[in-house]
Amino acid sequence: MAYEYDNQNIFAKILRGEIPNDTVLETDHTLAFNDIAPQAPVHVLVIPRGPYVTWDHFAAKASDAEIIDYARAIRKVIDKFDLSPGEHGQGYRLLVNGGEAGIQEVPHLHTHVLSGRILGRMLPG
Ligand code: AMP
Repeated sequence: MAYEYDNQNIFAKILRGEIPNDTVLETDHTLAFNDIAPQAPVHVLVIPRGPYVTWDHFAAKASDAEIIDYARAIRKVIDKFDLSPGEHGQGYRLLVNGGEAGIQEVPHLHTHVLSGRILGRMLPG
């Protein structure tokens, strides 16, 4: 499988510092920032710094260090907003769109971290 990365996509520009972002946290291999059009009170996008188009691209080609860093960075976002379900955390949804069927708008892997309200059913219908 050949994965073609478009280095002019908007998240590539954010990673190069060409356009601003509202950073939530940064790690060695990962950046998390607030979504520009939030669909919930918490709506954070978590992206690897490496040039990966989709989840399957990332899982196939990223190093173990990148994958571990990415998973832990998502947990850090959950922790930062105190979302872990338990005594007071209200929970969250992680969402990754891939390609046409997933209606992925930006062709750089991103995980949406959503919370702050009851999010409804996972899929309509
Ligand atoms: P997706 O449909 O999964 O590809 O989601 C793309 C997300 O990127 C949408 O939720 C957009 O609101 C968000 N987005 C697009 N441009 C920016 C930007 N410059 N800064 C932050 N979020 C953005």
